Amino acid sequence: MPVRATAVTHAPAKPNGAPKPSGATTATAPVKSKPVKPYRLKFAPQGKKYRFRAGAQQSIHGVKLLVEQRRSATTDQLLTQVGGWMQSVPARLLDGVDKVQVLRKHDRGLNSWVNKLQGSKGGIVEGLTRGAEITLFGATGTTFETFAHELAHTVPVSLKAWKAAARADDRVVGRMNRLGTLRQHFFGHEYLGNDQPRLTKGAVTVYGTTNRSEDIAESLRLLLSERHYGAAFASFQPDAGASHVRALAFAKIYPHRTALLEQASRSDLDGNGRINA
Ligand SMILES: [Zn+2]
Repeated sequence: MPVRATAVTHAPAKPNGAPKPSGATTATAPVKSKPVKPYRLKFAPQGKKYRFRAGAQQSIHGVKLLVEQRRSATTDQLLTQVGGWMQSVPARLLDGVDKVQVLRKHDRGLNSWVNKLQGSKGGIVEGLTRGAEITLFGATGTTFETFAHELAHTVPVSLKAWKAAARADDRVVGRMNRLGTLRQHFFGHEYLGNDQPRLTKGAVTVYGTTNRSEDIAESLRLLLSERHYGAAFASFQPDAGASHVRALAFAKIYPHRTALLEQASRSDLDGNGRINA
């Protein structure tokens, strides 16, 4: 299901260690924000409806972005930040999105519902996608990675084709593990909670093992984050020869997943100048 549950330790507020996003958040064109009136959200899986307090909104490539009211400066900052993210990803990726809304609080009811469903404890839902509507939660804001993960749930990818791509990638990543050592790099900061990249056969991260849709979402998150942070998510040290450690991009370890995501989004996601490399 399109829910990303993160361990408590992976709360959205990351005072230290989180790298400054490259360019994307500052390159936003001036936008006119309009006030949003309160309304009730309809997505709650447990049948409860949530109240959206007043906020601000703007339109990015025809997609409505709503930010729930916080201290007014933060509301405007978030509107600019998330708006910048939406403008920074290939426009095609927004084709399946009507609305992105950033709520002020994590939802405790939703958190416990998901924890019960997954047999986990203390998980926090950072984002949720229903159809063409993406909801992001957080008192201090949200992260690019959560946005990228949720965005993936709106991109049409065949689960059957994904299964085949994942199998083909197993051979690539299996070979690398035989020839040397793969290590997590994660754009300069540490992975926390259940986000851990596995760098071995099977799903790309621990959360990706939930089901194939989550593996797709985690794959797009890693691919887009490499562009966003300007850093590869892993490194490779060969056993033989001049054993220099080199940065290794997602597309090198998971070329078949990358090709499928490029096909589905008709975008050059790995930045190599080609689509479906
Ligand atoms: Zn998800």
